[in-house]
Amino acid sequence: MKIRISQIDLPPGYTPEQLAKAAAKKVRCQPGDLKGLQVVRRSIDARGRSPRMTVMAEADLSGKLRNGLRDVEKAKAVEPVVRPVLDHFSGLRPVVVGAGPAGLMAAFALAEAGMKPLLIERGEAAAPRAKRVESFWKDGTLNVESNVLYGEGGAGLFSDGKLTSRSKDRPRVRRLLEILVECGASHDILIDAEPHIGSDILEELVPALRNRIVELGGEVRFGARLDRIEIENGALRGVVISGEEIRTDTCVLATGHSARDIYAMLSEQGITLEAKGFAVGVRLEIPQHRIDTAQWGGSFPSLGKASFRLTRREEENARSCYTFCMCPGGLVMCCASSEGMMTTNGMSLSKRDKPMGNAAFLVPVFPNDFPSTDVLAGIEFQKTLEAAAFAAGGSDYSLPAQRLVDFLEGTDSDIPAERSCSMARPAQLRGLLPEFVEHTLRSAVPKMLGSMRGVQLDEALLYASETRSSSPVRIVRGEDGQSVGARGLYPCGEGAGYAGGIVSSGIDGLRLAESIISRH
Ligand SMILES: Cc1cc2nc3c(=O)[nH]c(=O)nc-3n(C[C@H](O)[C@H](O)[C@H](O)COP(=O)(O)OP(=O)(O)OC[C@H]3O[C@@H](n4cnc5c(N)ncnc54)[C@H](O)[C@@H]3O)c2cc1C
Repeated sequence: MKIRISQIDLPPGYTPEQLAKAAAKKVRCQPGDLKGLQVVRRSIDARGRSPRMTVMAEADLSGKLRNGLRDVEKAKAVEPVVRPVLDHFSGLRPVVVGAGPAGLMAAFALAEAGMKPLLIERGEAAAPRAKRVESFWKDGTLNVESNVLYGEGGAGLFSDGKLTSRSKDRPRVRRLLEILVECGASHDILIDAEPHIGSDILEELVPALRNRIVELGGEVRFGARLDRIEIENGALRGVVISGEEIRTDTCVLATGHSARDIYAMLSEQGITLEAKGFAVGVRLEIPQHRIDTAQWGGSFPSLGKASFRLTRREEENARSCYTFCMCPGGLVMCCASSEGMMTTNGMSLSKRDKPMGNAAFLVPVFPNDFPSTDVLAGIEFQKTLEAAAFAAGGSDYSLPAQRLVDFLEGTDSDIPAERSCSMARPAQLRGLLPEFVEHTLRSAVPKMLGSMRGVQLDEALLYASETRSSSPVRIVRGEDGQSVGARGLYPCGEGAGYAGGIVSSGIDGLRLAESIISRH
C-alpha cells in the first residue's frame, strides 16, 4: 500500500538513512518496510532555536498500516496534469508575441498540441542578449530592443528565478515545473516549498525550452517586433511583425508590462484597457549573513541562504509597505528599455552566494495617484519616476544610491564599497518618489528591519527606484481569455494585468493555450 507520511522532522542536510529512520518511526515499522521512500515536499522550519527541515514523503508499505497513526495516511492519487493534443489541426497558425515566461509556456503548449505556433520576440536569443546586458551593466550602453527586460526569457531571465506563487491552480503549477525539469531544471523545484532556479541556470534552460518548441513544430523568430494588429468586425485578422503582414486569427499577446508602445498601439486601436494600481519604492540591500542570523540563528550551508518577507500595515499618514522579490545572496541591478529612464530590480545566481541580500520595499499606488484619468496615466507616472532616477544617477544608467540612515535623516555621505551594484552613485533619494511614498518608507522601513534580530540599520543601502512591480494597465479580457472586443486576441501574462511573477505568468500562458486548443 502506498502511504504518505507528513511532518517528518529532520536536521538540515539530513542523510537518506536519517530520513528512512524518522519516517519508519512515524509509521511504527522498520525502515526496510518502507520501499521506494521518496520526498514529495520539503520546507524549512525556522521557528525553533535552530532551523529544522519538515519533510513529506511517500513509500510503499509492506505489511498492514496501523490504526491511529499521526501524520500517516494512504497516499492520494496525484491530480493528472492536462496536456491537450489535437488529432488534426489545419487552421491558421497561432502567433505568440513575446518570449517571456507567459509566451514561452503558451507557445510550448500550442506546439505540444500540434498547432505549430509562430513565436516572435523583439529582443535577442538568451546568449547574445546576456552579453549585451553584461556590457550595459559595465558601461551603460543601452540597446532599446534587446536588454534586461526584452529578449528571450523576458524580464525573468536576469532574475532570482524564484518559482514561488500564490496560485491555487496546483495542476498547472505542477505542469509548468515539470516542463522546466524536462528542459534541465533540478528535480528539487518539484519538492521545495520555495523553489528557485537562478539566472545562470535560466540562461541554459530557456534556450532548451525554445528548442523543444521548435522540435514540436513551432517556429521562433528573434529581432521580430509586433508593430500592429489588424482587427475587422471585432475579430483578429492578422498581425504586422517588423513590417511583414502575417494572417492569423489567433494571437497570444504576452509582451510584458515594459512594452509601453504596445499599450499605446492597443489604445489607438480601440482595444479595451483599464488603469490599475501597482506599487513603487526602493530596493534595499543588507549583508546576507545578517539575514541568515536573523532567520536561522546563523549560516547553514545545506539550507542555502535565508530570505525574508516583511509587511507593515497602513498607519495614520502612512500607507502599507511590503517587501517584494527578495534575492538572497544576490545582486541589485539597473533595468532599462528606453533611453533616459531606468528602474532597479534584483537577481541572483543558482548558488545565491554573493555577500549581500536585497529586496524591494514597496508602497501601493492607485489610479487616483496618477497625473490624469487617462487609461495610460500610470505609465506616465512611472516614466516621471524613472526619468528622475536616471538624472539622479548621473544620466549614465548608474543607480542613485543612499545609505538608509542618510535617507532617514536627509543627510549626504558616501555609499559603502561593499555593495552588490558597482554602477551606483551616491545621491539624495529624497524627491525621487512621491512624498507619500517617501514618508511611508521613512516610517515603515526601520520598523520592518527592526523586526529582524541583529539587522543593523546603518548597514542598509537603498537604490532608487522600483517602479515596475506589476502592470499599470489591464488589457481587459473575457472568461475565455479573449480581449473584450477583439476575438482571437489573447492578452497574456504580466503585461495583460492578470499575472505577476514567473510562475503566474507562465501558467497564464498554459491556461490561454488550453482555451485556444479547446476552440479547435
Ligand atoms: C530583474 C527582475 C527580477 C525578477 N525576479 C523574479 C523572480 O525571482 N521570480 C518571479 O516570479 N518573478 C521575477 N520577476 C518578475 C518576472 O520576471 C515577470 O513577472 C515575468 O517575466 C513576466 O512574464 P511575461 O512573460 O508576462 O512578460 P515578460 O517576461 O516581460 O516578457 C515579455 C516579452 O515580450 C517581448 N516583447 C515586448 N514587446 C514586444 C513586441 N512588440 N514584439 C515582440 N516581442 C515583444 C519582450 O521583449 C519580452 O521578452 C523579475 C523581474 C525582473 C525585471
